[in-house]
Amino acid sequence: MSLAEKISDLDTFLTYSVVLEEEAADRHDELADMMEVHNNPEVAATFRKLAHYSRLHAREIRDRSSGRSLRVIAPWDFEWEGMEGPETGDISDVNYLMSTGHALKIAMGNEQRAHDFYFEISKGSPDPAVRALAAEFAEEEKEHLELLEKWLEKHPESDEDMRWDPDPAHMPE
Ligand code: ZN
Repeated sequence: MSLAEKISDLDTFLTYSVVLEEEAADRHDELADMMEVHNNPEVAATFRKLAHYSRLHAREIRDRSSGRSLRVIAPWDFEWEGMEGPETGDISDVNYLMSTGHALKIAMGNEQRAHDFYFEISKGSPDPAVRALAAEFAEEEKEHLELLEKWLEKHPESDEDMRWDPDPAHMPE
């Protein structure tokens, strides 16, 4: 059974959505912090804006579901791409090394995944009310993606951007 098929009522959908949006807000804030380190306040502001949208969205979802209880859900199979890559132990190294182009790519990957999550549900949930709301959410994620795409055009990726030292700090042994 796919995740979308399991999301068979509005409560379940809203529970997943609020977790997703709150996570998204945290991820965007991390990227914004990173762009501040890189002295790129405009891109930082864009990530802050996306974090703000996600928090607004989460609040909206909580309001919509007031009176119902949003269950705390168990870990699920939604994968965020964050700072904690498998080969990176120290977040400050990553902050330092990550380029604007790379940060935008990560943000776009996350928005794309959020979009796909909502889109799948808009097609696969057995409940028509869930499908309709999921379609609305998918549309919003698409707008976020478009915003990031515009930035990426201004920061075309070079090889330099994508070069990624997996082991930046050589500690003396
Ligand atoms: Zn979004």
